[in-house]
Parts: sequence; structure tokens; C-alpha cells
Amino acid sequence: MSRRSHVIRGEGTRQSARTDRFHWARSMGVTLGLVLAASGPAVGPAGAVPAAPQPVASKIESVVVTYNDDAAPDLEADIAEASAVWNSSVSNVTFVETDGAADLYFYEGVDQTADEYNTDGHGHGWIYLPGSLAGTHPIRIIAHILGHILGLPDHYSGPCSELMSGGGPGTSCANVYPNATERATVDSLWATGPAAGPLRGTATLH
Ligand SMILES: [Zn+2]
Repeated sequence: MSRRSHVIRGEGTRQSARTDRFHWARSMGVTLGLVLAASGPAVGPAGAVPAAPQPVASKIESVVVTYNDDAAPDLEADIAEASAVWNSSVSNVTFVETDGAADLYFYEGVDQTADEYNTDGHGHGWIYLPGSLAGTHPIRIIAHILGHILGLPDHYSGPCSELMSGGGPGTSCANVYPNATERATVDSLWATGPAAGPLRGTATLH
């Protein structure tokens, strides 16, 4: 897949990546439109034989997004916890670790000072982290970036109870869980398969 050739730590792709630590002060007024499809049972004219109830769309199987963190050995436990946070929070998409080809790759580097990511917002991309996230809340940081991987934008003006508020609530915020709206948004985005809609996060991967 040509995508993977972009994923590797090429200088060209790195430069266009988002740097969360530095963009956490920015605000993006993004409103996600949640489409609520409400359809009641068909009602026939009086006396007519009632129409058969419409079958309720069966719940699709959870879409699997595979990740490979072999290149981030010091952060494997944090990555596993952040993935588990999402897996326990949403129903329509699931992160699964793999040692082989993956949708999402984690990297760490001793010379890396900020967390960077590059994603199409549809489950693909890479996350490049400092080898040590000491002094931060690594699971919140990783879970936040996973939110971008799943299609959520930043919302820095949000409270600590939001995951995508990132650094907005201050460095004391240790909440690692998406709130109800964020969970519902991800489940909506992934309800019919890989997240639909416009590209989110940074979009140099296609
Ligand atoms: Zn962010």
C-alpha cells in the first residue's frame, strides 16, 4: 500500500504533521453535526392492514483499527491503556494491536520533544511521541490523539471532562475518558464503517 510509504518517518511528512503540544493553545470552533435518524413505524390508513414493522438496522460489527507500537517500546503500556479507554467507551470501532502491517503506527524518539500525529481521521496514520512522557498525563495525551485518529477535532475551550479539550483545561487535567458527546460522535462517525465525512486532524495521508 502506498500509504505506508508516507507513514515512515520521512522528513517531508513530518513537517506537515500536527504538533499537539504546540497547537493546544489554539481554538477551533468546529461543530460536528450529529445526524439523528428517527424513523417511526409506518402507519397505514385506518382499517388497512398495518404495514410490517421495518426491520431495525442490525448493529454492525465493530470496525477494527489495527495499531503497531513496536517502534514505541517505552510507551506500550500507556498505548494499551489509551486504546482500552476507547474500546470501553465506544461500540462501533475497536483498536487491536498487531505486530504486522497496521492501520496506525506509533513511534517514539529520544530527540522528539513534542507529540505529533498524522491521520486521515478515518483510522489511519501515525503518532510520534517523545520516548518519555514523564511529567505529563501520557494516557490522556495518547487517548486524545487517538480521538483525532477516530475523527474528532480539537476543542480546547472544553472542560477537563472532555478528552478533546487537550491542554485547554490546563496541565493538571488528568481525565483520560471521552465524555458522552465525544463517545456518541465517534459511534456515529463509525456507525456504517470507517469514519465518513471530511478529513480531520491533519490530512497528508489519503
Ligand atoms: Zn489535539
